[in-house]
Amino acid sequence: MPRTLDPNLRRSLADRVRYYKELGIYDFYRQPVAVDLQDSQESVAPTPSSAAVIREEQDLSATINLESLADPATSLRLIREDLGDCTRCRLHKQGRKQIVFGVGNPNADLMFIGEAPGADEDEQGEPFVGRAGQLLNNMIKAMGIRREDVYIANIIKCRPPGNRTPERDECETCSPFLMRQIEAIHPKAIVALGAVAAKTLLAINAPMSELRGRWYDFRGTKLAVTYHPAFLLRDPRQKKEAWKDLQMVMKELGLQAPTSPSS
Ligand code: URA
Repeated sequence: MPRTLDPNLRRSLADRVRYYKELGIYDFYRQPVAVDLQDSQESVAPTPSSAAVIREEQDLSATINLESLADPATSLRLIREDLGDCTRCRLHKQGRKQIVFGVGNPNADLMFIGEAPGADEDEQGEPFVGRAGQLLNNMIKAMGIRREDVYIANIIKCRPPGNRTPERDECETCSPFLMRQIEAIHPKAIVALGAVAAKTLLAINAPMSELRGRWYDFRGTKLAVTYHPAFLLRDPRQKKEAWKDLQMVMKELGLQAPTSPSS
């Protein structure tokens, strides 16, 4: 007898699978589904309807596996495993030393997203550890929190040669992994650092002066845009503006500045 799923369960499964696809998740973990066609259909070849049921059960098993990854640290570890020694775009053969996955608290309320690893990050395997990273650390400290309390990642995970701006197809290939990181961490707020992060996440092409200073809804999470720390190193007069953006984020998260920012 062909087995059928409850229509409501079937609909919610289809919604869930579509939702994961929107997040860029196409490859599901599949566990073998114990469907013994010989037992149930006595050596009759699977009919289209039984094949559909098998597919639904595979989707169900995939969904259950994904849902059971409720622990953010475990989810992040599995995403990192999926990424592997990534060769999905040209950057793997253009001099990257290592993949820079992301760092910080898997249960963070706040996530910072930059553009791409630079030379220091490529060397150390951690985002924002160079000069721009020092300034980001100061910005985080000025907000009354520690670097270890937040999660920091980039739009792409490999250093582009000569620190050039990431190409669109590199962002498109890599960002589904970032989307999964965001989904796993489920922060209360995201800060996009600079134009590349803001434009990639929001799919808006506008100058930074227009993008910053307000909240966006990013798939149900609040997202603010501010200047990239590397830009602030080049034009320190804009730090005042960046501090306004961070204060907006602090207000949202109920954070108090310990002292007035001095860097
Ligand atoms: N700039 C970025 O955008 N990301 C880093 O990790 C370092 C510098």
